[in-house]
Amino acid sequence: MMADTGQEHTGSCHCGSVKFAAKLPDDLAPHRCNCSMCEKKSTVVIDLPKGDLTVTSGEDTLSAYSFGTGVAKHWFCSNCGIQVYQNLRSDPHLVSVNAACIEGLDIWDFEEIPVVDGRYRHPKDTGTPGRKYIGVQKLVRE
Ligand SMILES: [Zn+2]
Repeated sequence: MMADTGQEHTGSCHCGSVKFAAKLPDDLAPHRCNCSMCEKKSTVVIDLPKGDLTVTSGEDTLSAYSFGTGVAKHWFCSNCGIQVYQNLRSDPHLVSVNAACIEGLDIWDFEEIPVVDGRYRHPKDTGTPGRKYIGVQKLVRE
């Protein structure tokens, strides 16, 4: 089932230490990124305005990882290791939430996941605004 959008959803890390509420946009626009970090963690994310994500418990269990310019902060649960969200280098007003952490969403409903080219054509590296895409990941149910 696709979740209703434009509404509050709850979510959590794997162990449940970190819980959050998120107001999802009408267009979920799920995507992945191929940067050196995102390629390894392989999460599908949904971008929200920063104010539409509220950590409701376990904030002290969150740890931030950053690399390179140090602008993007990848927030993960220090107990179970699951990344819950990240602050974006490309837009400080947005956060990317791990779609698999959102209750009522099934990433297999998305079928196609565009992959943002955060490795070779990041807007902050090229000086050209807007996301470029390296390709599309298809999810095909058996
Ligand atoms: Zn956890």
